[in-house]
Amino acid sequence: MTSTEIKISKNLENGIEFTCQMCGNCCRGFDEGEVYLYKEDILRLAKFLNIKGANALKNFAKKYAKIINDSFFWKEPGAQRGKTYRFKTLGFRFTGKDEHCHFLKDNICSVHEARPFQCRSFPFWQMMVSSRKNFEGYTKKCKGLQVLKGKSYTKEEILNWAKKEYEIEKKFFLEMKQNKFNILKVYPFLSKEMLEE
Ligand code: SF4
Ligand code: SF4
Repeated sequence: MTSTEIKISKNLENGIEFTCQMCGNCCRGFDEGEVYLYKEDILRLAKFLNIKGANALKNFAKKYAKIINDSFFWKEPGAQRGKTYRFKTLGFRFTGKDEHCHFLKDNICSVHEARPFQCRSFPFWQMMVSSRKNFEGYTKKCKGLQVLKGKSYTKEEILNWAKKEYEIEKKFFLEMKQNKFNILKVYPFLSKEMLEE
């Protein structure tokens, strides 16, 4: 699939209204999921929190991030078939009995300006935008999707978020592929111990 092929499901054809109701469920990975982090997310957060130097960045990644599984479907240009690749990526390390993001304070994001792309782009993730079933699945878990009131988003804006997400994932996948799926090469600030956890 290329980003231009992302299809919008019928329920979003006319756009929607959405405003976060601050239930904090997405900041708990909706109880079973992850909050994915890309290089730009880590660097933006580190800058926001005034984390300087290679060692400080290493410690920051160790405290707030964990290595998790990821997958991406890719078809080489000119190839007849593609395949799903499985590899490692980064996600937030959760904390507390309710397994919440470290930066969630009283159900409010304490790093709102520097929050990762996954947090910014919700609920317009590609898998939600192109599947009504997925979208409805998240509606049960997100108060904002239950209310569906507030800021208006057009079909084009929704598709733009989904495309951006796809491009970020693709960029990371291609970088991983180029580095033989060695996450320590792609993210030199990670420690080897994180791979063994
Ligand atoms: S789950 Fe929805 S309403 Fe709750 S904090 Fe996340 S975006 Fe906001
Ligand atoms: S960075 Fe903010 S919005 Fe994202 S999961 Fe953490 S508390 Fe929630």
